[in-house]
Amino acid sequence: MKYQSFLLKYAEIGTKGKNRYMFEDALMHQIREHLKKVDGEFAVQKEQGRIYVNALSEYDYDEVVEALRKVFGVTAICPMLQFPLCPYDELRAEILKFVKSEHPEQEFGFKVRCRRADKSYPKTSDEINADVGGDILDAYPECHVDVHDPDFMVYIEIRKMVNVYTTVIAGAGGMPIGTNGKAMLLLSGGIDSPVAGYMIAKRGVMLEAVYFHAPPYTSERAKQKVVDLAKQVATYSGAIKLHVINFTDIQLAIYEKCPHDELTIIMRRYMMRIAERLANANDCIGLITGESIGQVASQTLFSLRSTDEVCELPVYRPVIGFDKQEIINLSEKIGTFETSILPYEDCCTIFVAKHPVTKPNVHVIRSSERKLAEVIDEMVEKAVAEDEIIWC
Ligand code: ATP
Ligand code: MG
Repeated sequence: MKYQSFLLKYAEIGTKGKNRYMFEDALMHQIREHLKKVDGEFAVQKEQGRIYVNALSEYDYDEVVEALRKVFGVTAICPMLQFPLCPYDELRAEILKFVKSEHPEQEFGFKVRCRRADKSYPKTSDEINADVGGDILDAYPECHVDVHDPDFMVYIEIRKMVNVYTTVIAGAGGMPIGTNGKAMLLLSGGIDSPVAGYMIAKRGVMLEAVYFHAPPYTSERAKQKVVDLAKQVATYSGAIKLHVINFTDIQLAIYEKCPHDELTIIMRRYMMRIAERLANANDCIGLITGESIGQVASQTLFSLRSTDEVCELPVYRPVIGFDKQEIINLSEKIGTFETSILPYEDCCTIFVAKHPVTKPNVHVIRSSERKLAEVIDEMVEKAVAEDEIIWC
């Protein structure tokens, strides 16, 4: 085990004033949850605006870093050496030993930055910078100090303990899950909705999800794909309760009774209505979709207006202004892309009209929907009642 401890840095939650402790506690809770998924025992502690993870057993470094990189709210992960305050010559020797173990290469530019929270320590930060820098220069004849563009920094913090680190790994950023309520994600098997869920979760929002399934028109494999996507998003957001709604009867009724160029819009309106009902029943205070303006006929401003009007809850569409390539880049980054492009059809792709309306008029759409009046309420009730729940 190379590192006994990690220093985790966080940014935005440091600005929350009196509520700061709530954000820190939520962050510590999330860190513990993520560490449960890896082998080993860890203690997560908060101290003077710092969060430390201390390993209490052997662990796999890559696995732990991978887990910590998925915790929203963490901006940097610094594997470090931590030791009790000690006489100055011992402190310098410890630091040099650590730098040697971190950097077997001989030629590099470096910079030392010491911070002294414990002002009673008999040396100032500048003195420590100069002395430790001198020790490194002596030990590595080919290295040099580079204050502008160093290959690495040697960070030293003098607190109750001494922290030393030279590696800073970027964290996921954002806000800790659980600090911003819960929202219902409309999750299809496509590229966009998993990315949308990730983006909202990143702001501290807990996720629940709903998938509209239309067997036998959509296969078990299509459903499995959505489960897999939910699991992948859950590696960041924490466990997701996925509702699978059987949408077949509703879709067939729309297909039979409504104009075909309005199929997608009307179908989307029923998805939103059902999603809102599930949201209300499960303490979700918003809906999330992967819509992006103009991407397809059902996502023009006219279409979005007409899908929006059927629900009262706010609908969050975090990729609304993104180009497809930008969404793809994010989906590759978060690891959902390969699953999203598997070829299994979803219900939107089966019941699509050849020439869908791009400028639906809400009055026309409402009057088309009236043709469903006799059957639709019962169908919606049945679909909601038969909601299948899969924890992902
Ligand atoms: P995605 O890549 O997310 O599937 P898309 O480009 O295929 O999006 P649409 O099919 O128009 O776009 O769907 C728009 C949004 O509606 C999706 O991002 C998703 O939030 C929701 N949605 C569409 N189909 C389903 C479904 N079968 N189950 C749940 N949500 C869906
Ligand atoms: Mg889709």
